[in-house]
Amino acid sequence: MGAERPLVDRFDRVHTNLRVSVTDRCNIRCFYCMPNENVRFKARSEILSFEEIERFVRIAAGLGVTRLRITGGEPLVRAELPDLIRRLASIPGIVDIAMTTNGLLLAESAIALKEAGLGRLNISLDGLSEETFQQIARRSGLDRVLDGIFRARDAGFQQIRLNAVAIRGLTEDEIVPLGAFARAHGFEMRFIEFMPLDADGAWQAERVLSGRTIRERLESHFGPLVPLPRVDASQPAVDYVFADGLGRIGFINPVSEPFCQHCNRLRITAEGQIRNCLFSTVEWDVRRLLRADGSDREIAELIEVCIGAKKIGHGIDSPDFVRPGRAMYELGG
Ligand code: SAM
Ligand code: SF4
Repeated sequence: MGAERPLVDRFDRVHTNLRVSVTDRCNIRCFYCMPNENVRFKARSEILSFEEIERFVRIAAGLGVTRLRITGGEPLVRAELPDLIRRLASIPGIVDIAMTTNGLLLAESAIALKEAGLGRLNISLDGLSEETFQQIARRSGLDRVLDGIFRARDAGFQQIRLNAVAIRGLTEDEIVPLGAFARAHGFEMRFIEFMPLDADGAWQAERVLSGRTIRERLESHFGPLVPLPRVDASQPAVDYVFADGLGRIGFINPVSEPFCQHCNRLRITAEGQIRNCLFSTVEWDVRRLLRADGSDREIAELIEVCIGAKKIGHGIDSPDFVRPGRAMYELGG
């Protein structure tokens, strides 16, 4: 379905993907994302209601948005999430709804999510040892995540991707076991470079374990990885398959190989701020319009202004780079 006024920015990037953060809350405390203690979450009244999210998505769909990703914080801590999925799945023009989750609450919700119309799942899995899990998440729970992954597959999710943030000096020994796990069970493994979005501001370039280093480690154990043709220019991952055809591995390398030139994503935070980039230092307040009788036209124009202001790239490697004032859990990863 073609939009009357597609969301094209100054660099001819057409925006069709919307990431919807449904909460800033989480049941664990990954060091690359959240503070460990005393997290100042938004008050419930500040967070968009399902009605407000649904209206926003309907307007965005009118501007050519076709694909949604539900994220957070941890989206599954938001009560009645399948109800929201059901509402979003019925919006004309929305063809795909995916979700990124830490998996801790997935075992009990997978069937309801599937029935509500959730199409695809990315589940975070940085390693296969409980020790690594606790070093990263600062809470326990690997067994529940693994249970969630298998229960999601039993519920009918075919295309499950496992996301691992790779940290130098911490997760090197997880790479080969994760590759073997993906091969053994038919999951797609995706390694993601650590980005400067941690709440503690402790990110350092030296802690980024590059996609290239990971690939070399996998290849020295399993043999050559064969690159797969890019299906979609805007996909952030570079995908490979093992030479024997068993198992797919993707690399998301925002730090060492930025993919901004093909970015087609916009975001809305849990409290209704729209953003044209994870690294943007500016936000556009759509909640004000949603709660003050703003018209659909005014909301559509605000989205257009946000996209019109998008920069050519995130500039992490530039000396002028300025970190956004908020961390990953507040932005919606
Ligand atoms: N709570 C859910 C989860 O962890 O899957 C969804 C939200 S989380 C912010 C989305 C994704 O961002 C996860 O795969 C997480 O591992 C990743 N992430 C968080 N902080 C990151 C960082 N500083 N650099 C790279 N990826 C990060
Ligand atoms: Fe929670 Fe996801 Fe952030 Fe980890 S990455 S603290 S699971 S929101």
